[in-house]
Amino acid sequence: MKCDRCGREIPDDSNYCPYCGARIGGRWEEFQVEAEGLVAKVKQLLREGNVRRIVVRNPEGKILLEIPVTIGAIGALIAPYLAALGAIAALVSNCTIAVERRE
Ligand SMILES: [Zn+2]
Repeated sequence: MKCDRCGREIPDDSNYCPYCGARIGGRWEEFQVEAEGLVAKVKQLLREGNVRRIVVRNPEGKILLEIPVTIGAIGALIAPYLAALGAIAALVSNCTIAVERRE
């Protein structure tokens, strides 16, 4: 199977990814987005409110940015991440957003 966070192949019975340490078995979703839609998509996900973690990967699977979303982190604390997303969007043409939902 594949790790939901970093996308690497890992043993089927893993509880944690040996590469990136992500917990396996959380509720993850993936979205493929064009660079110009990246910031808007992340803002939309943050508004949905049940997001624990957002990971942005380039098409080669490299993690470009990880946003640990804690309750109350929407607003000022998230602004630097949105600025970083804007910088990423200028560098890539498309990317993958992996989202871990709260149970
Ligand atoms: Zn991993």
